[in-house]
Amino acid sequence: MASRRISSLVSRSLPLLSRGGQKTYLGRGIHRFSTAAALEDPIKPPVSVEYDKLLINGRFVDAASGKTFPTLDPRTGEVITHVAEGDAEDINRAVAAARKAFDEGPWPRMTAYERQRILLRFADLIEKHNDEIAALETWDNGKLYEQSASIEVPMLVRLFRYYAGWADKIHGLTVQADGPHHVQTLHEPIGVAGQIIPWNFPLLMFAWKVGPALATGNTIVLKTAEQTPLSALFVGKLLHEAGLPEGVLNIVSGYGPTAGAALCSHMDVDKLAFTGSTETGKVVLELAAKSNLKPVTLELGGKSPFIVCEDADVDKAVELAHFALFFNQGQCCCAGSRTYVHEKVYDEFLEKAKARAIKRAVGDPFKAGMEQGPQIDEEQFQKILKYIKYGKESGATLETGGDRFGTKGYYIQPTVFSNVKDDMPIAQDEIFGPVQSILKFKDLGDVVRRANSSRYGLAAGVFTQSLDTANTLMRALRVGTVWINCFDTFDAAIPFGGYKMSGIGREKGIYSLTNYLQVKAVVNPVTNPAWL
Ligand code: ADP
Repeated sequence: MASRRISSLVSRSLPLLSRGGQKTYLGRGIHRFSTAAALEDPIKPPVSVEYDKLLINGRFVDAASGKTFPTLDPRTGEVITHVAEGDAEDINRAVAAARKAFDEGPWPRMTAYERQRILLRFADLIEKHNDEIAALETWDNGKLYEQSASIEVPMLVRLFRYYAGWADKIHGLTVQADGPHHVQTLHEPIGVAGQIIPWNFPLLMFAWKVGPALATGNTIVLKTAEQTPLSALFVGKLLHEAGLPEGVLNIVSGYGPTAGAALCSHMDVDKLAFTGSTETGKVVLELAAKSNLKPVTLELGGKSPFIVCEDADVDKAVELAHFALFFNQGQCCCAGSRTYVHEKVYDEFLEKAKARAIKRAVGDPFKAGMEQGPQIDEEQFQKILKYIKYGKESGATLETGGDRFGTKGYYIQPTVFSNVKDDMPIAQDEIFGPVQSILKFKDLGDVVRRANSSRYGLAAGVFTQSLDTANTLMRALRVGTVWINCFDTFDAAIPFGGYKMSGIGREKGIYSLTNYLQVKAVVNPVTNPAWL
């Protein structure tokens, strides 16, 4: 089994990509990705990471089985490279490393200031490699390079600096209890955190999970999504370069029912954090309950209403509703996927929303000026086309789109349905694609009832000029985030999570720290109460 310390990684030649029938050998060193003809903005290789290995105990190692699986370019469906296929045995190795690092290693024992310094150094390194990381993310995921480079990687930096700031501000309380006792609470790291992340925002999900867990002194086994395993390995290596001790962050590429399930069931994992579908979230919770009752936080699906009130500036509302749904190819758990429009402005809104979707620039995500790239993979692509079919069959009006875009890769035409009714599948289920469903409403009572009738409760958008309407809706909507006259405004300090079947717990902000802390009450009788 190949095993090398990260700090001493050396160059090697790799046959990597096969494009247009030509095998590309990319020189020494370097797991360098060919920049393909379509790329206008140059990627900046080298990227010296061993993507075909797992990151366990500070080393890149082969999967115990020696198996690998391909990760695909969503623009073409072609293989980018092969990654190690971790399974239960690798999870065992990774958990053992994380356990040892927690029970015996320096990480939970070093000063919070030292931990903070490492996290800050890591943020600096990410910043230095901004464009390479962004390119890797776009390559693996298909999201727009411009957004990867200017939003996602900078947000990763911001999140790590934010949580680095918390590292030396964790403290308990002194409690006034009845009786002659001195009572205090100690906030201690919870131990080994198992973290499972999805493919739609691989880097941000990495940051939301790893940032607070490390700031509070925990160790981690992270399982990446099988569709997007690359960027976590790269930033994981940077984290070790920043000084992270071995075994503190272990990264396993692999599939959900094998590696993911093994992590959820593991008796030595003290806490689980999962982001993904509601369906899989239930499995994760069950596996945790059946093993050692480890606490679980879940960030799951959504069907978020975006409410356009009668006083709305229609042009602005159209643009924001369009963004709320189509951003990231519609692959957002909080996507504004039920566009409720007041009957007084419905016709004007519909005409303009349709025109806006027709204008949407779809194409290679590396090209400047594109607004929409491909969906992540064949499975999601087919799922979206299936929902478009359901939309047509259930009587909604297809205003534009409704088919694949182009002839290769997983591109889908920006699609708009009008006359959508609440009981149609396109208004109830998470489509996770560029399909906007527009529904008409009469008054606030009507829209509150219908917006809340979903089994989900992740987020909502409200577009109005009335403070009174905004105040009413923000309280009436049963969701974890209400965006008023904005959408998808994310910030390291703003908590995120769902009501109902959209999840359990909150991530980001101060709230995420509690996910990774145990509270210990310490009670100490005062021997001479007469002196109090
Ligand atoms: P999606 O359907 O969008 O791919 P999933 O919820 O299936 O969403 O996947 C999110 C993450 O959960 C991925 O990392 C995936 O590998 C993992 N996963 C899938 N199935 C399981 C499972 N049975 N146990 C644990 N993790 C799983």
